[in-house]
Amino acid sequence: MPAKLIKGTEIREQILEEITAEVAQIKEKHGVVPGLVTILVGENPASISYVTLKIKTAHRVGFKEVQDNQPETISEDALLNLIDRYNKDDTIHGILVQLPLPKHIDEKKVLNAIDPDKDVDGFHPVNVGRLMIGGDEVKFPPCTPAGIQEMIVRSGVETSGAEVVVVGRSNIVGKPIANMMLQKGPGANATVTVVHTRTRNMDQHCKRADILIVAAGVPGLVKPEWIKPGACVIDVGVNRVGEKISEKTGKKVAILKGDVDFDAAKEIAGWITPVPGGVGPMTITMLMKNTLKSLKFRLGIA
Ligand code: NAP
Repeated sequence: MPAKLIKGTEIREQILEEITAEVAQIKEKHGVVPGLVTILVGENPASISYVTLKIKTAHRVGFKEVQDNQPETISEDALLNLIDRYNKDDTIHGILVQLPLPKHIDEKKVLNAIDPDKDVDGFHPVNVGRLMIGGDEVKFPPCTPAGIQEMIVRSGVETSGAEVVVVGRSNIVGKPIANMMLQKGPGANATVTVVHTRTRNMDQHCKRADILIVAAGVPGLVKPEWIKPGACVIDVGVNRVGEKISEKTGKKVAILKGDVDFDAAKEIAGWITPVPGGVGPMTITMLMKNTLKSLKFRLGIA
């Protein structure tokens, strides 16, 4: 029987509706809404399109959105001062600096200057530490891993005692999702293995997985015979493998493929995420959730 599709586009709609309702309630009771600032340096087209989508989503859920565009030539000191200003601004609960930054600016220094209590991307070392400790310590789980966990839970996939295998050990996906799945608590309690380019017999590890999370950035890396029948397969990979003309707009668009051989894998897996339309839409959604959480922490209602 073909796998059930886990559609990020549908789960996104559910979560954004929940956020919109909660924002309206908080506004009525406390007279405030979550404030998100997006800082964009320069005019990188991909960054502009990501930021535009974030702004659009923030407006949709009723946030105060501050769009702060800075020229490519801004100095590191000036950018650090700007972040300091937003750190001190009580109407701002989430600060987002769109990456990449120009070469003359130290990205790490900039990200580390964000107040950890407004770091809704969850990349500040303080938030990485909080995630590692788990439980009540966690404030802002990084958005893509948080989206993955949400998809698994909302699809009714059992995580407690499950064998989870994560392909990839990056700081933004592999390591944090592995850490989140092994924590004590709902949506976790799994036995976790992380594999990477130095792993021997990767297929053998993957074959054991009740939940297989793949974030390698290699199109078609995971073969159907690596998948345990009935497993839940989360394909995080987004790989541009060519271009086509969009039927809707008549413009050139990228052809995207995941890290899993989807057509064959869906005949074996129990659940599977498509690419595009799977994990992708969840990242911005969880950014909104983290920003709302930030305000709730501030109000003492989280
Ligand atoms: P990354 O930083 O390049 O890390 C890739 C990881 O995969 C590394 O740990 C690497 O191992 C491992 N890997 C690569 N090739 C492998 C192979 N042949 N066998 C085993 N392991 C292999 O990538 P990332 O930032 O985590 O992103 C991974 C993919 O997810 C990309 O396609 C990216 O576009 C996508 N992504 C999607 C979203 C989203 O949908 N919202 C968000 C983030 C990322 P080593 O450490 O040994 O090199």
